Amino acid sequence: MIGVFGGTFDPVHFGHLRPALELFEVLRLDELRLIPAGVPPHRRAPYADPAHRLEMLRRAVAAQPGFIPDEREIRRSGPSYMVDTLTELRAELGEGRPLCLLMGMDAFLGLNGWHRWQEIPRLAHLVVSHRPGWSPEHLDDHGGPLAELAGGSLVSDPGALRDSPAGCVFMHPVTQLDISSTRIRSLIRQRRNPRYLLPEEVRVYIQEQRLYR
Ligand code: ATP
Repeated sequence: MIGVFGGTFDPVHFGHLRPALELFEVLRLDELRLIPAGVPPHRRAPYADPAHRLEMLRRAVAAQPGFIPDEREIRRSGPSYMVDTLTELRAELGEGRPLCLLMGMDAFLGLNGWHRWQEIPRLAHLVVSHRPGWSPEHLDDHGGPLAELAGGSLVSDPGALRDSPAGCVFMHPVTQLDISSTRIRSLIRQRRNPRYLLPEEVRVYIQEQRLYR
């Protein structure tokens, strides 16, 4: 089973990596593709060039077997739509192999704003990480398609994701680290030290390349 985790990774930090590892283990994934967005459709342009964001990601995960930086979105022109990425992966993996799209609860609650979002559950399972103590009943407050999507196909056993290639929703608590790329960039701009918020290899690369000044 393959996982997909997309982001701007501008830069990658422990708030991305720790939940990713916890889900990697819980789902017993064969590999997790970490996919930096080339042109993120829903936000301002990234600060660091795609090549730098990819290199930081490579350094961050070099020692973790199964974590694979994937360049497809930065090679593709135009906005980086997840539906296109999953369509490509699905074509490569074949129809039968389970594919899991990992996202935080915030991303899940905004999913119905994504380009062609209704197609996404046909391409992959949705694996949603959330704070410990959060319960899926809270989804009712949001109503509409999301509640339906989660309610219709919610599974409580990650093993059940292996029984079909796509279409289930699995929610799982992960360690919450209050770290954001925005905060790291802001520290660097103020000439403060971002150490211990992100992998040391990434911090050194940022320093060497003089990023985010
Ligand atoms: P920025 O501060 O520039 O907006 P970010 O730190 O939120 O960036 P992204 O690369 O945009 O990072 O995030 C990619 C994915 O990782 C998103 O789905 C986001 O919800 C998730 N994520 C980011 N930071 C954390 C965190 N501290 N804990 C859990 N998930 C996170």
